Amino acid sequence: MSSIPKIVILGAGYGGVLTSLRLQKELNYNEADVTLVNKHDYHYITTHLHMPAAGTDNPENARVNISKLIDEFKIDFVKSTVVQIRPQDRKVILEDGTLSYDYLIIGLGGEPETFGIPGLAENAMNIRSINSVRLIREHIEYQFARFKREPHRTDYLTFIVGGAGFTGIEFLGELADRIPELCKQFDVDPALVKIINIEAAPTALPGFDPELVEYAVQVLQKKGVTFRIGTAVKECTPDGVVVGEGEEIKSQTVIWTGGVRGNRLIEEAGIETMRGRVKVDEFLRAPGHENIYILGDNSLVFNEEGGRPYPPTAQIAMQQGVNCAHNLVASIRNQPLKSFVFHNKGAVASLGKGEAIGVAFGKKYKGRTAALLKKAIDLRYLFIIGGIPLVLRKGKFL
Ligand code: FAD
Ligand code: NAD
Repeated sequence: MSSIPKIVILGAGYGGVLTSLRLQKELNYNEADVTLVNKHDYHYITTHLHMPAAGTDNPENARVNISKLIDEFKIDFVKSTVVQIRPQDRKVILEDGTLSYDYLIIGLGGEPETFGIPGLAENAMNIRSINSVRLIREHIEYQFARFKREPHRTDYLTFIVGGAGFTGIEFLGELADRIPELCKQFDVDPALVKIINIEAAPTALPGFDPELVEYAVQVLQKKGVTFRIGTAVKECTPDGVVVGEGEEIKSQTVIWTGGVRGNRLIEEAGIETMRGRVKVDEFLRAPGHENIYILGDNSLVFNEEGGRPYPPTAQIAMQQGVNCAHNLVASIRNQPLKSFVFHNKGAVASLGKGEAIGVAFGKKYKGRTAALLKKAIDLRYLFIIGGIPLVLRKGKFL
C-alpha cells in the first residue's frame, strides 16, 4: 500500500454519498486520498423519482449537484462512467481513464431485474435515474398527442405498470393523479384512459401489512387503477404485454417495476454474487476481498436470524455508508472494525397527493398522516446530506 492510502468510491447514490460525507468529516488531513466517481455531476433522490416519472413534479427537483454536497478540498470528484473493475490489479477502468485504489467502495446501485422475460429490456421503461424518468414523462405526454391524430388507437391511452412492489405502487399513485390533468390539456375523454397494474404475486406489495395493502389498493382503484393481481407478465412486445396464459394487452407504454438486481460490473469483476448481489461479510466487505466494500442495492445483508435478506432500500444504503466510512477510517488507523447492524425504521409508500401508507417504529399509518410522515422522511434525508441550506432549496418540492 502507498504511504497515503487511496480510497475510491464508485457511485454517488445513497451509500456512496453517505460514505463520502462521513469520510470528509472523520479523516484528518493527509490520512487518505479519497476519490468519488459518478456518471453524472449530480446525485439523484431516487426515492422521489416516481413523481417526475409521472410528470407530477419536475425532474430538476430530484437532483442535487455533487459540488453542493461534498467538500472538493477533501474529496476529488470525478464525473465519469465506470466500465470495468479489476480487483486483481486494484484498478477501476473509467470510460476516459484509470484509477488505482487501496480501498474500493462499490455503491453503483442496482439494475432492473427482468428475470429473462422476453422483450422487457427492449420494450419497457424503468424508473431508475433522472434520464429514465424524463423519458417516461415525455413518452406519456406523447401518447396523448398521438391519440389526437389517430383517435382509433385507444392503445395509446393504455398505461401498463408491471409489478406492484413499492416502486410500482408509488408510481401508480402519481400517474393516476396526472392523467386527469393530461386529459384536460389534450381534450381527451378520461373514460378512454386505462391504467393497468399487473402483479404476479397473490397480493400487491407482497410481504407488507395486509390491512395497509388493502387500503392502498382501494385508494388507487378509486383513482382509476385496474389491478390484475396473481397475473404474471410473460412477454413484452412493441405492442404491449402478454400475461398469464397468453392473454395480450395492447399498450404503447409499459413501465417495468418488477424488481432490482445487482450491477453487472460486479459479477464481471469476478466477485461472487447471488442474483447479482454480493453477500457481504459482517463489515460489508466482498467475500475474499478485504479491501472492497459493497453498499446499497448491490449488497445482500441477512437479518439477524440469518433467514432473509433485507430488501434493498435507501434506508439500509445510508446506514451502510456510515458504517463503511467508520471501518475505512478504522482500517487506516489500525483500529478494530465495527460490524454492520441494520436498524429498520420501517417503510412509507406514497399513493399520490396527500395519500400514503406506512409502518414506522412499529406503528401503522395511512392517509394524510402517512403522507406527512413521508415528507418528514424526505426532509430528514435532505438535512442529512446538505443541512438546512438544502432543506430550504429543495424541501418545498418533496
Ligand atoms: P443508487 O442510489 O441507485 O445510486 C447509484 C449511483 O451510481 C447513481 O448516482 C448512478 O448514477 C451511479 N452509477 C451507476 N452506474 C454507474 C457507472 N457505471 N459509473 C459511474 N456511476 C454509476 N428506498 C427507501 O428506503 N425509501 C423510499 O422511500 C424509497 N423510495 C423509492 C422510490 C423509487 C421510485 C425507487 C426506484 C426506489 C426507492 N427506494 C426507496 C429504493 C432506493 O432508492 C434504493 O435502494 C437506493 O437508491 C439504493 O442506493 P444505492 O446507494 O445502492 O444506489
Ligand atoms: P420489488 O422487488 O419490491 O417489487 C417487484 C414486484 O414485481 C413484486 O411484487 C413482484 O411480485 C412483481 N413481479 C416480479 N415479476 C413479475 C412478473 N413477471 N409479472 C408481474 N409482476 C412481477 O421491487 P421495487 O418495487 O422496484 O422495489 C425495489 C426496492 O426498493 C425494494 O426493496 C423496495 O422496498 C424499495 N422501495 C422502497 C420504497 C419506499 O420505501 N417507499 C419505494 C420504492 C422502492
